[in-house]
Amino acid sequence: MYLHPHLETMSRRDLEALQLERLQRTLALAAEAPFYRERLASAGIEPARIRSLADLRHIPLTSKDDLRRSYPKGMLAVAEEDVVRMHASSGTTGKPTVIFHTAHDLDAWTDLVARSLYAAGMRRRDVFQNMMTYGLFTGGLGLHYGAERVGMLVIPASSGNSKRQVQLIQDFGTTAVHITPSYALHLAQEVPQFGVADPRDLGLKFAVMGAEPYSIGTARKIEAAFGAKVFNCYGLSEMNGPAVAFECAERNGMHLWEDNYILEILDPETLEPLPPGAKGELVLTTINRTGMPILRYRTKDLTRILPEPCPCGRVHQRIERIMGRTDDMLIIGGVNVFPSQVEHVLMELPEVGSTYQIVLTKENCLDRMTVKVELRDPAFTGNLAQLHALQKRIEHELKSALLLTCRVKLVEPGDIPPSQGKAVRVVDERGGN
Ligand code: ADP
Ligand code: ZN
Repeated sequence: MYLHPHLETMSRRDLEALQLERLQRTLALAAEAPFYRERLASAGIEPARIRSLADLRHIPLTSKDDLRRSYPKGMLAVAEEDVVRMHASSGTTGKPTVIFHTAHDLDAWTDLVARSLYAAGMRRRDVFQNMMTYGLFTGGLGLHYGAERVGMLVIPASSGNSKRQVQLIQDFGTTAVHITPSYALHLAQEVPQFGVADPRDLGLKFAVMGAEPYSIGTARKIEAAFGAKVFNCYGLSEMNGPAVAFECAERNGMHLWEDNYILEILDPETLEPLPPGAKGELVLTTINRTGMPILRYRTKDLTRILPEPCPCGRVHQRIERIMGRTDDMLIIGGVNVFPSQVEHVLMELPEVGSTYQIVLTKENCLDRMTVKVELRDPAFTGNLAQLHALQKRIEHELKSALLLTCRVKLVEPGDIPPSQGKAVRVVDERGGN
C-alpha cells in the first residue's frame, strides 16, 4: 500500500522534526546562491538563527519574477559541475524560469513520483504510457523516471498523434496513462476513428491527470469514457514538476509530500497565514533539494488544506484541487502563457498597432488560441500577399516565444472595441471544464 512506509506514515511530530532538520540544511545551502545570500542578508536573516518551523515566516517570499531576474544561474547553490539536468517553464516576458537539478534532486523527485503512482495502485506489471510533452517541460521526463522506479514498462510516447497513441496502447497493453484533461477528452472522441468502437475497450485502468486545472465533473467524464480511474497530480517546475501533491486511492484531495516541501496557505492580499481549511495562495519551500533550493515560493495557485486526516493513513496533508490563480496566467493546452508575453512579442513589431486581443476557444476538446492583432494604419496599404506574410511572421514569432502554436488574425484599427477602463485582453470562450 505504501512505497515508503516510514516516510509516508510517520507521526506528525516526527515529520515536523524531519522538516526542521531539512529546512535548516536548506537555508545553509541557499545562502551559497548569490540571490539568496543577498536576499537573506538584506532581510537580516542568519540561517543558523532559524530554530523552529514557525521561524519560517521571517524569511522573505520568492516570486517568479525573482527567478526571472536571477536568470540563468543566480539561484544556483552548488558548483556547476554538480548539476546534471535543467528544466524550464515560461516566464512573464520572454525569459523562461530555469531550474537546475543535481543527481540527488532527480533521485528525490523520482522517489516522489514513484511513491505517488504506487499510492494510486500502479505496480510493476502495469504499462505506463506518458502522453505529456517531453523536453524542457517537466511532465515528460519527471513522470518517466518515477514510473520506471515503480518497475513499470514505460512508453515515452510524448503528446499528440492519437493514431499512434492508440496503436501503442493496443500493441503493448498500456494500463496507465499520463495525460492532460483536454487531451484525454479529445482522445476519447478520436478513438472510434482508429477501429476501436469504445474507448473502454482499450483496457486503461489509470489516468494520471494534471498540468492544467479541471473540475471533478471533467474527471468523472473522462473516467466514464475510458473506464479508468483518474488521479489528480499537481506540480510546478519551480518545485521540480509533477507529483508535488498527488491523490491516493481515496481520491479526495492531493497529499502534498511534506517531507520534501513545507506548505503554507497565505492570504494573497495581506500575505498573512490563513487558518487550516481556508482558501488562499499556496506557498512552498523545497527542503530536499540541493541544486537550487527555493524558499517560500508564491505559486499563485489557490487552494485549501483539507484538515481531516485521510483514511489511507498518510501523514502528509491534503490540498483541494486547484481552485484558480491569483495572477493572469493562462494555461493553454497545458502550456503556461502570460498575456504580457504576447504583448511583448507584438510590441516589437513596427506594423502592429496598440491593441490586441487573445481569444481562447475549444476545437474538438482542444484549446485553441487566436490573437487578434490590430494593424497600424500605414501597414494596411500593403497588398494581400504582404499581409499574409506579416500574419505568418507574427504566428512564427509567437510560436517561438510561447512554445505554442496559435492563429493570428489581422484586423483593421478600430475593430477591437475600445474598452471602458481596463482593456479586455483575454476572451475565454472555452467554458468551464
Ligand atoms: P507543468 O510542466 O507541470 O505544467 P509548469 O510549471 O509549467 O508545470 O506549470 C505549473 C502550473 O500548472 C501550476 O502552478 C498550476 O497552475 C498548473 N497545474 C499543474 N498541475 C495542476 C493540476 N493538477 N490542477 C490544476 N492546475 C495545475
Ligand atoms: Zn490518502
